[in-house]
Amino acid sequence: MDSRLKETWESCVKCGICRSVCPVFKEEKSEPYVARGHITLLSELVSGNVDFSEYEAKDYLYKCLLCTTCVEACPNNSETDTIVEIARHEVIKHHGLPLYKKIMAILLKDRALMDFAFRNATLFSSFLFKRNDDSSRASLKTKFETPIMEKGRLIPKLTKKTFLQKYKDYSDNYGYLSLFPGCLINYTYTEIGDAFVNILKKLDISFRVPQKQLCCGAPVYFAGNFEDAAILARKNIDLFSRVNSRYIIVMEPTCASMIKNDYPKLFMYLEDKEYEKKARDLAKKVLDPVKFLYDNTDILDRLKHLDMKTTYHDPCHLKRAQNIKDEPRAFIKKASNFTEMKEADRCCGNGGTFSIDYRETSLKIASRKVEHIENSKADYLVTGCSACIMQLSEILHRHEDDHIKTIHTLELIDMALDGGNNEG
Ligand code: SF4
Ligand code: SF4
Repeated sequence: MDSRLKETWESCVKCGICRSVCPVFKEEKSEPYVARGHITLLSELVSGNVDFSEYEAKDYLYKCLLCTTCVEACPNNSETDTIVEIARHEVIKHHGLPLYKKIMAILLKDRALMDFAFRNATLFSSFLFKRNDDSSRASLKTKFETPIMEKGRLIPKLTKKTFLQKYKDYSDNYGYLSLFPGCLINYTYTEIGDAFVNILKKLDISFRVPQKQLCCGAPVYFAGNFEDAAILARKNIDLFSRVNSRYIIVMEPTCASMIKNDYPKLFMYLEDKEYEKKARDLAKKVLDPVKFLYDNTDILDRLKHLDMKTTYHDPCHLKRAQNIKDEPRAFIKKASNFTEMKEADRCCGNGGTFSIDYRETSLKIASRKVEHIENSKADYLVTGCSACIMQLSEILHRHEDDHIKTIHTLELIDMALDGGNNEG
């Protein structure tokens, strides 16, 4: 086991500050589900006092959103997220992965297979799902109970043409920017990617969409499956190191954080120095789309004011992992009537497969946001992450708040660049 891990758990002074901020602890009220508990558990596991094969160890280590709220609050900068990720890697050596995560890893490593699976899912979607156009964002509702989803769960509608297919003609052009949409925008929320493309066209900024890009690997990495995550990471690093664009715009905050922060960590852990260096070099070119627009264009001055009442939710991997919080707010304030909600940076509870594995806890965490959203009196909940849009539109639907629409910051910027009443 890595000596850096030992340093991390020794840095924890057991002050308990993480208990006051952890969204999972707030629901579970149990020490093993908080950062301090994870750190203690891992030190016990490594010392051999607790057996990795015990079920409880597995459950405790997976019931964490990796939201890094505890890392931000910790006075000693204990990197609990790293501890949990590495511990999960140890856990799967003993327990293996659940079947659906094994299938997910196979699909994510092969674009053609993934496209095939989604094409078929689209064909059969009317059998499994019904349309739900009334919710906070158009979506599908499961008709039946399935092994990984309960009846009545909302999922994003599936796109007929993926983002990569839509912009196939832009694959080989020179582009000042190279675009990395991420799986959710590629297969479901393509309209968010379209909004960014619209903005780039209006600003006359050239871009390309490399076709051979794969999933960033976050879903497998966060499951502890470092081997498959490394396969995906190496392919993306090789592809994007070759493109001659100034920036690689990664539209999903989780993917951006994975490429910028977790690729170097992953290769450091696997002791692959060649790819660790390549990952660090690539990280310098990775940028969030809203941050790019804020830092590199005059678009803020060009936005019109729209007659919309908005509030904003900070995605964990945008605010905490990339320190991007003021830039989206600057755009939203210019384009609409903005009210800051309470606890805007509180995790929405999605956490990728956390929302499948620990559905009840995930929904309880999301429910805590509803009151703050309602109190803001906003008609539009704006955020910068598709996974948050998926989670929050579902929880608003469950609370009969479908009149509050969930939109992406890029969609608001695109609308405000088109028109508005110019009062701002
Ligand atoms: S806040 Fe940091 S130092 Fe304090 S108990 Fe939690 S992890 Fe340990
Ligand atoms: S990463 Fe988030 S969910 Fe996990 S222990 Fe820290 S605060 Fe809790």
